[in-house]
Amino acid sequence: MVAASRRVDSVCVYCGSSNTTDPDYIAAAGAFGRQLAAAGVRLVYGGGGVGLMGATARGCHDEGGRVLGVMPEFLRSREILYDDVETVVVRSMHERKMLMFEQSDAFVVLPGGIGTLEEIVELLSWRRLDLHRKPIVFLNQKGFWDPFFALVEHTVEQKLTPAGFSGAWTAVDRVEDILPALTRMAEAA
Ligand code: AMP
Repeated sequence: MVAASRRVDSVCVYCGSSNTTDPDYIAAAGAFGRQLAAAGVRLVYGGGGVGLMGATARGCHDEGGRVLGVMPEFLRSREILYDDVETVVVRSMHERKMLMFEQSDAFVVLPGGIGTLEEIVELLSWRRLDLHRKPIVFLNQKGFWDPFFALVEHTVEQKLTPAGFSGAWTAVDRVEDILPALTRMAEAA
């Protein structure tokens, strides 16, 4: 069991809603949910029962962990609200993201699609504007996030993003390295 820093009581997970992606990604999401439960860390996520989102939430809930889902009303059926856990239904995507941000001490990014990209780019842009210094850890399973990191690096090379901005996050290859990395970042902050 990984001891959670007192400052990391709630972790927001951004990840894909697809059920048809690489099963290893879905399995890793479930494993991370179980690790959150074992560490006594609350999961904050988008409230859905599908894809990596659902796998993370079920993994955490099934192991007795705390979960908060935040679901916009209009997505309730599309993302199949997982209502075995505490859920807040909000009016818009903006409200969802703001509540997920406010309720979390740190952020974990698992593989995901456009929605996940939108969420993490906003989170990183807020970091760029010094609106927060909350830890961010990417699970770079099978190099999934390498093209994203390369794009950010490209903007650095073109002097559009400050050098060293990639220090805003940590990337790990294995699920079991996520919580220790988060704890280290929280302690260093
Ligand atoms: P995806 O990575 O496309 O599977 O999406 C992952 C999650 O991000 C889903 O719950 C989407 O509803 C959510 N999402 C997509 N766009 C936004 C947005 N603009 N604000 C907040 N959440 C979003």
